[in-house]
Amino acid sequence: MASATFPRRSSYLGGSWLPESGPTDTRVNPADSRDVLGPVFCAEPAHAGQAVAAAATAAATWGGRSTVLRPQVLMRAAGLIRERAGEIAAELTREVGKTAAEAQAEVLGGATVLETIGSAAPWCGGGRITDRYREGTMGFTRRQPLGVVGLITPWNFPFSNPCVKIAAALTAGNAVVWKPSPVAPMTAIALTACLVDAGLPPGVLNTLIGGDAGVGQALVRDRQVAAVSFTGSTEVGQRLAAVLAGRGARAQVELGGKNAIVVLDDADVEAAARAAASGAFAFAGQKCTSVSRVVVLPGVRDSFRDALVEETARLRVGVPTDPGSDIGPVISQVALGRHLSAVDAARSRGARSLTGGVRLTEGLPEGAYLSPAVLDRASATDPIAQDELFGPVLVLLDAADHDEAVRIANGTKYGLAASVYTADLGSAFAFVERLEAGIVKVNEPTPGLEPHMPAGGWKASGYGPPELGPSALDFFTREKSVYLNPSGAPA
Ligand code: NAD
Repeated sequence: MASATFPRRSSYLGGSWLPESGPTDTRVNPADSRDVLGPVFCAEPAHAGQAVAAAATAAATWGGRSTVLRPQVLMRAAGLIRERAGEIAAELTREVGKTAAEAQAEVLGGATVLETIGSAAPWCGGGRITDRYREGTMGFTRRQPLGVVGLITPWNFPFSNPCVKIAAALTAGNAVVWKPSPVAPMTAIALTACLVDAGLPPGVLNTLIGGDAGVGQALVRDRQVAAVSFTGSTEVGQRLAAVLAGRGARAQVELGGKNAIVVLDDADVEAAARAAASGAFAFAGQKCTSVSRVVVLPGVRDSFRDALVEETARLRVGVPTDPGSDIGPVISQVALGRHLSAVDAARSRGARSLTGGVRLTEGLPEGAYLSPAVLDRASATDPIAQDELFGPVLVLLDAADHDEAVRIANGTKYGLAASVYTADLGSAFAFVERLEAGIVKVNEPTPGLEPHMPAGGWKASGYGPPELGPSALDFFTREKSVYLNPSGAPA
């Protein structure tokens, strides 16, 4: 039933919700397949062109609006998100299986992101004054919006990740065409409704609901789209970046990871084990920054392994709406099957299962529940230690010394997040210097990002400038050098 939070089950284009007609998509709640989600009415590739045209019309007015007035819409939207957080989080949990507490935190985090990035608006057009390039002259730079930008987002943070991109793109003065993940369409509708109800002018945000890869491809290929910010898998993101480069458009792609924690001999073993378990298994290991490898030094190998198995055993897998559940289901039966096969295959190559890695059914509804898995004795080059699984599977890897620990931690194609546990400042700094990742932490689990800190992957984990942080708006603006000779006196 329509409500202020979920006004329609269709796309929002040119200032109107599209009629609820045409092709539909229906899914099931990953926690309980009896709970059917949808139908939603799906955007098709032709809608991408219409949305870009609407955005192009709106871009000039929005981009010309004062940088004091522009962020006021984001601030009002943040207020509406807080008012509606309970309803939005409940739907987010149904769509992706995130526990109620995590869903609530994600939605409220999205409101904070709108406020944090929006508050940078007054400075977004400012550049550097380079003083007189000749007597009586002045040189300076201006940053201006790009016009129409495309945003493509994943299912695992279906509310907060789009908030990051939408806030930066709109604050910088662009009009947006957003293709959210078809896995979480109602969450995307709720965010769109908050922005619309906050007073966003027609055409400034266009949301293409339920669209598949074809809609994303149409957006990426459209010559009026000056830049695309994408978050998702490495495979898709790298392909899209190549298409964008081919037509000279900007690409910001934030991709997968195979994130490692290194536990040194002098680490607080209990703290490291707690961080590894929570970092690996919260949201069933489906965060881009989830821990999927732990590299352990010989002095703490046994004590850390025992503590980790104990911490993992403490975590309760259950229905995500139950406040007693620490971990919900994985996203789908297909993903569940993939994780089970990966664990079996690793075992057949010599890995040992220390705990978990089995499908759970007892006392649970028909859903995609998997017990968190810890494996050891796998080679660091084994697929289980190399490929992003995006599930609750953690591999323990042994390193003889610091150099080998660095080699193993850096020894995948990814470079998103890494962490080192140590009591020694010198070791901490040495690892900060040597770990090849866009986000490096000391004595902290790899997941968890602050909006004022840049977030961008290295190597196959990202391409283009990072999101968030003090330069979050740079990707969405272009710099112009201005030569000013007020008197017109010749050189
Ligand atoms: P995905 O790549 O399958 O999809 C991401 C988005 O791209 C979706 O909206 C999807 O519909 C769209 N898409 C898929 N194929 C497309 C194509 N050919 N052309 C255009 N659009 C296309 O990723 P996902 O399964 O939704 O998300 C999980 C992945 O995202 C994981 O790899 C995870 O690590 C990554 N991720 C990265 C970050 C980060 O900040 N680095 C954050 C969250 C998730």
